[in-house]
Amino acid sequence: MSKQSIIERISTLRTLLEKYNHHYYHLDECLVSDQEFDALLAELENLEQDHPEFQDSSSPTQRVGAQHLENHFSTVKHRYKMYSLSNTYSKEELKDWQKRLHKHINSEITYNCELKYDGASISIWYENGKLSKAITRGDGLQGDDVTLNVKTIKDVPKQLQGNNYPNLLEIRAEIVLPIADFNQMNQERQTQGLPLYANPRNTASGSLKLKDPKQTAKRALSCLVYAVIIPSEKQRNLDQDKPVILNQNEQLQKASQWGFNIPNHHILANSLQEVHKYIDYWDKERKSLPYETDGIVIKINDAEQQRILGYTSKAPKWAVAYKFKAEKVLTVLESVSYQVGRTGAITPVANLKAVSVSGSIVKRASLHNEDQIQQLDLYLKDHVYLEKGGEIIPKITAVDISRRLDNAQKVEFIENCPDCNTPLVKQEDQAQHYCPNEIKCPAQQLGKIDHFISRKALDIDGLGTETLQLLLKEGLIVDASDLYQLKYEQLISLDRMAQKSITNLLEAIEKSKSIPFERVLFGIGIRFVGETVSQNLAQHYKSIEALKNTDFETLINIDDIGKRIAASVLSYFSDQNNLCFLDKLVKAGLQFKVIEDNSKKFSNALLKGSTFVVTGSFSSISRENLKKLIKDHSGKVTTSLSSKTNYLIAGEKAGDSKLSKAKKLEIPILSEKTFFEQFITLE
Ligand code: AMP
Ligand code: ZN
Repeated sequence: MSKQSIIERISTLRTLLEKYNHHYYHLDECLVSDQEFDALLAELENLEQDHPEFQDSSSPTQRVGAQHLENHFSTVKHRYKMYSLSNTYSKEELKDWQKRLHKHINSEITYNCELKYDGASISIWYENGKLSKAITRGDGLQGDDVTLNVKTIKDVPKQLQGNNYPNLLEIRAEIVLPIADFNQMNQERQTQGLPLYANPRNTASGSLKLKDPKQTAKRALSCLVYAVIIPSEKQRNLDQDKPVILNQNEQLQKASQWGFNIPNHHILANSLQEVHKYIDYWDKERKSLPYETDGIVIKINDAEQQRILGYTSKAPKWAVAYKFKAEKVLTVLESVSYQVGRTGAITPVANLKAVSVSGSIVKRASLHNEDQIQQLDLYLKDHVYLEKGGEIIPKITAVDISRRLDNAQKVEFIENCPDCNTPLVKQEDQAQHYCPNEIKCPAQQLGKIDHFISRKALDIDGLGTETLQLLLKEGLIVDASDLYQLKYEQLISLDRMAQKSITNLLEAIEKSKSIPFERVLFGIGIRFVGETVSQNLAQHYKSIEALKNTDFETLINIDDIGKRIAASVLSYFSDQNNLCFLDKLVKAGLQFKVIEDNSKKFSNALLKGSTFVVTGSFSSISRENLKKLIKDHSGKVTTSLSSKTNYLIAGEKAGDSKLSKAKKLEIPILSEKTFFEQFITLE
């Protein structure tokens, strides 16, 4: 590396690390995984060591407390070390492992084969059946106390089921974020113009470290148990404690009886052949699992045999992970192009020499933003590693620097909009660059209309991108409000469109006038205002007039709305162009008020005069609206349970105390689904 490029790299790394620290400590956002952060820090440390002339006392390497892993959760010592697993990558290595085992064990060995869930490991303590602590793996000896966050996870019992559990109990489990929920979170982030999360694993571990448990509660985390440890009763002085260890399959069985989520995929195998079969089966089948797995774990089932084998300093000798082949290929970065989103956000995209990864041909991969390009330190024609797991979009994970051409050209982020040439802007606290030419930038015009007509917004079918481009080009429309002025005669004169499709289109446009306010609000495309936020705003303000006249304080007190969204809403309504646009939509007859929905009626007369308590959150309706729905139909809603309560309606993350009290008082508990099935008919 030339001196100049070393200086540049050091400066890039310092800027990135500063930024990640800032987001981590002050904004509570994990922009990168711990591993990625550590790798960048190590790279910087090495460069600074090799080139002491560039040392700087304000470098992130020099400051105490700059380590990424330190945070605001208290540190707790593990009772029993949380080990890692040794990895194997081939069936030969498994054979070698088996040979080593038989040096110490003369009898038959039965293996318990399990999936290796790819998430964040956790140790959960129970005392007298009650969850008392949850600790991350940390360095294996001590981890972070994330009890409050773990308590929000729906399949972590706060109270064990049955009464057949020991007084002290420790559960070892993996916290995962299902792929579908991960994708949905990213979709939501995309509509809000926020940087995307890298993968479910990092997002799961990031979710455990959020400062506010309410935020953790919103993530659809799941807890998959893989071990149970029973500290011995007599020895509560834990340093010398020898726990009671059950056979591995008994551990899983017991945990399942106590109410834990144990996917029913583990088997007992009596030979390596059976283990191989299990591996081959899951290497394919894992793609249909709702969560990610990165291998399988093979454990000796017998507790006594486990004891004989013991541990190395890092991992048990009685277990190994068999890692599925990373679906990773090397290809060449041909060029980088830049997409302009509807809000003007610029996304760099790598154009690659086509390769096949996990059964599909990949030619492009998103680079997300400038940080990502800097982090990878990309040069044109670089050989890059491309990975694709599950349903996740392919990602460039690394560069093979040894194959970099001598005169390679560094990838520099563009300064002007690729579509309208306006100089781009980037705010300090944001990862994305934007084209500020919101009105006239053709890419944004198109993107905004595309968003407006999309299924979750105004749902206008029959307008493909090409037709839209044509309408824009012919000057028939400038923005989405012009759709409502389109006439049959204008459209038929564009020789592209057939009679039938024009009538269909005009019908769809007409129909969109009855789309509810919240979806119109989503459709107008205020930056950072996604589906959920639109719903919350609509519920709170009831009309566009009220929203237009709101202020910052009121906004940030609404669920899910932080400073960034509030500022964006205010800025939207302070722009004359937007007000004109809205005005045209109002005149066209779109819904700009919440219309109370009385079409849902109770079918069951039992409900009249019944008293309900509502707990948790619901997928088809907000809690407030559910209460209103009940009251509108002569039901009563109270906040606490008593002998007068007829039903408890329990949604996601229902309150524990409410659930157990309802059980005690023998009050029927209804799920969202049952409630709607039994008491509501849609007319
Ligand atoms: P590693 O992180 O590669 O050292 O692998 C060890 C980690 O794998 C453990 O800390 C667990 O969090 C995780 N893991 C996932 N599934 C299992 C399983 N079935 N048995 C044991 N560990 C598992
Ligand atoms: Zn532009």
